[in-house]
This record gives sequence, structure tokens and C-alpha cells, in this order.
Amino acid sequence: MAATSLNAHNAPLLQKTHQTHVFLKPISTIPCQTSAKRFSISCSATTQDRLSVQSQSQDRVFNFAAGPATLPENVLLKAQSELYNWHGSGMSVMEMSHRGKDFRSIIEKAEADLRSLLNIPENYAVLFLQGGATTQFAAVPLNLCAPGDSVDYLVTGSWGDKAFKEAKKYCNPKVIWSGKSENYVRVPSFDGLELNPNAKYLHICANETIYGVEFKDYPVPRNPNGVLVADMSSNFCSKPVDVTKFGLIYAGAQKNVGPSGVCIVIVRKDLLGNAQEITPVMLDYKIHADNNSLYNTPPCYGIYMCGLVFEDLLKQGGLEEVEKKNQKKAGILYNAIDESKGFYRCPVEKSVRSLMNVPFTLEKSELEAEFLKEAEKEKMVQLKGHRSVGGMRASIYNAMPLAGVEKLVAFMKDFQAKHA
Ligand code: PMP
Repeated sequence: MAATSLNAHNAPLLQKTHQTHVFLKPISTIPCQTSAKRFSISCSATTQDRLSVQSQSQDRVFNFAAGPATLPENVLLKAQSELYNWHGSGMSVMEMSHRGKDFRSIIEKAEADLRSLLNIPENYAVLFLQGGATTQFAAVPLNLCAPGDSVDYLVTGSWGDKAFKEAKKYCNPKVIWSGKSENYVRVPSFDGLELNPNAKYLHICANETIYGVEFKDYPVPRNPNGVLVADMSSNFCSKPVDVTKFGLIYAGAQKNVGPSGVCIVIVRKDLLGNAQEITPVMLDYKIHADNNSLYNTPPCYGIYMCGLVFEDLLKQGGLEEVEKKNQKKAGILYNAIDESKGFYRCPVEKSVRSLMNVPFTLEKSELEAEFLKEAEKEKMVQLKGHRSVGGMRASIYNAMPLAGVEKLVAFMKDFQAKHA
């Protein structure tokens, strides 16, 4: 179909991919008529429709980015099919009033699905907020303690360190253990931790995205009235979690559950209502909880996308099934690294290696640029390690298909054979 036959209404439904124009929306759902005029797209071109979806799929790369990260292809296609006219409402989710019944149904379903995925009890509030996980570095101390209160931070990577530094502005935090001097390769044994008996909370980063260090079980605060707080940004919904072990969990959406712009907070309700006086209204959890995350205009489209991802995770059989897939993917990648006789190396202690972010280095570091270039030619992108550590990092979140990891492993073996 010639691009010249498009008009202003249907043009946004097309995307230029390499040389060809490809339909991004199943043609059967493209509105073929408005009150004013008929479009030039044929409504009966279902074969073209299927071809279009296939070529879109072939055009996609395996995206190993740490976040924003790859999203499930079926979720993207569903969003595409609903983009222009959501459920016959005559408008896109982006155009809806956040207080209207349509958007309410979207946010309520997203919350209900997340509650069933993580088995979140009634005495926990679920909040859909803005400002990324970084904003929570401040919101957590502002909401959970008074200015002089002591709190503990267990630092297993640079995100935990950033959270600690932000907390210093609002309370009296102490780093009770840091892996920095060892370049963040492990989680300490919980037995030897010098936990403060008065700490209002103990903060951990459940998965350190940059270093690939993941907690496999969780420490318990020494203060019986203290709570465990976790930044789960990069392993949220990647496996079942016993929410009742935590007073508060927060996670930026853009790794496992949606686009950037949404940050999810799960907080025990009895912890709400004691925010410090200086707390900006937008950081006060109680205000958001009392208003069902609709105190002000929320990131509506992002919440809708998270809802589609939650629905998809439930369809896959829930987080037990998702975890099995993640273990399989991570297993074949770590095995390939460990069996490479030192050509590739992952510095993280085996017992705490992340299922989500797999950092590795090349013995011959001078080959790194070529590795990245060759991988990109094979449509495997964003494999460069974080600028603070170098090397490679393959982020293999829920939405990374097994085929993507298998392709990467085959590529790594080939590359080694050429350069060993
Ligand atoms: N915590 C972790 C574990 C992260 O990986 C990130 C982002 N990469 C952040 C916090 C910061 O998130 P945001 O950019 O959403 O503020």
C-alpha cells in the first residue's frame, strides 16, 4: 500500500521500518469511517494485517537494556490495537479523564491483578505514583520516620547507596554493611549484621541492577517495631514474594512491568499518616492511599500498560511460572559464562546472582567493543555494562524471550571460538 494514500487520520497508525511502511494496528480494528469521510485503507485486508504483524515482529531486536527495557510483544500488540479507540470509548487511554469510569476501571483492574499476582493482603495499600524509584529514596524516610529517627541501610550496590545518601537529608540513617570495597559482589550473612535495635526501618535493594546482586532471602529488622523496606525496581514481579515480610516495597515500572513514569508502592496501611511536616503533598503516601492514586493526574497511560503486563503475567500462570522461566533463562546464560574457561567472567557470588541482570566481563577486554558491534549486527542490543562498571550486562527481565537468551549464548560461544 502506498504511503501517499494516507491521510492525517490514519498516518499515525503507520511506522516506517527500514524500507517499508508497516501497519502497527490490526486493520480489522482500524476505524474505516468517520462522520466526515472514508479512509483509503481497506477494511478487508486481513492478510495484509497478519503480514504486517509478522514483519513488525521480525523487525524487533532482542533488547537487553536495563531499563527502560523490553516489553512483552503481545502486550505491545494489544496496546497497539487499543491505542486509537479503547474498548469502543471513541478515544485513546491517553485522552481519557483520570476520573472517568473508563480509566477507573483500568486502574482498579491493574491494582486487583497486581494484588492477585503478589498475593497482597488487604492491610497493604497499592499506590501508582510518579517520579521514579529515585523519588522514593526521599519519600520513604519522609513517611516512615521523624527527623531524628535512626534507620539502617544494607548497601549491596549503588542504588542502595543512593537511597542512603538521600535519606541523610530527612533522618539519621546508618550503613550497617556495604559491599563497596569489594565492588559489590555479594550479600552478607545476616547473622553478623549489626542491626540497630531502634531503627525504624531496614532498607535493602532487593536486586542491584548495575552489579547483578539479588537477595534470595531477606533480613529481619532487629527492632520488633521496625519494618523491612525494599527497592524492588529491577526484580518486581519476577518471582513470588511474601509481601508480609515487608513494611514497604517500591519499584519503578520500567524494567519488568511497564514504561517509565510509573512507580509502584506497596505499603502496610498502619504505617501511613505519620509523614514529616515538610513532606510535599506529592510524596505523602497517605494522601495517595486515601485518593486511590488519583489525588492528582496520575501517569494514566503508563498505569494502563502496567495493567496489560499484569494481565499477561496472570495468563502465564502467575509468578511461580514466571520465576521458572526466569530461572531457566538465567541458568543457561550463567552456565555459558562459567563454562567458558575464563573467556567470560561474572564476578558475582554464585548464591546471589541476579535472575534479571547478568553482568560479565571479557578476559580480553580489548574485544568488548567488537563483541558489542557484532552482537548488534545480530539484532542483540544494549549489552554494554553500566558506565560505572564497564564490561557487559545482559538484562533478561520477564519479557525477554528464552529465544533471546539462547541466541545470545550461541553468539557468545561463536565469538569465543573466533577469538580464544
Ligand atoms: N533502584 C533501582 C534498583 C534501579 O535499577 C533504578 C533505575 N535503574 C532506580 C532505583 C532509579 O529508578 P528511576 O530512574 O525510576 O528513578
